[in-house]
Amino acid sequence: MRESVFIDTYLRLDEDGDYVVKQTPCPFLGADNYCSIYEQRPSDCSRFPYTDEDVLLKRSAITLKNVSFCPAVYYVMERLVSARD
Ligand code: SF4
Repeated sequence: MRESVFIDTYLRLDEDGDYVVKQTPCPFLGADNYCSIYEQRPSDCSRFPYTDEDVLLKRSAITLKNVSFCPAVYYVMERLVSARD
């Protein structure tokens, strides 16, 4: 599938100018709850939740959003805050 067709079919730009899937749950989530395109999944999927990247602190709005639903991000942020104290 050409990239432009993939983008037109599955993605939209969010308010931050980032591409996100048009629908939730993700159209590539299989009935077995596994990613049906795991080997070719987008970079953001393989990098999520970014806990080993500087984006964790540089894009605080995303981190705060991720803290609200991702226990891994919550744990890392809690450890960072307590280490600072
Ligand atoms: S890993 Fe990414 S592409 Fe795969 S199901 Fe989850 S959100 Fe969709």
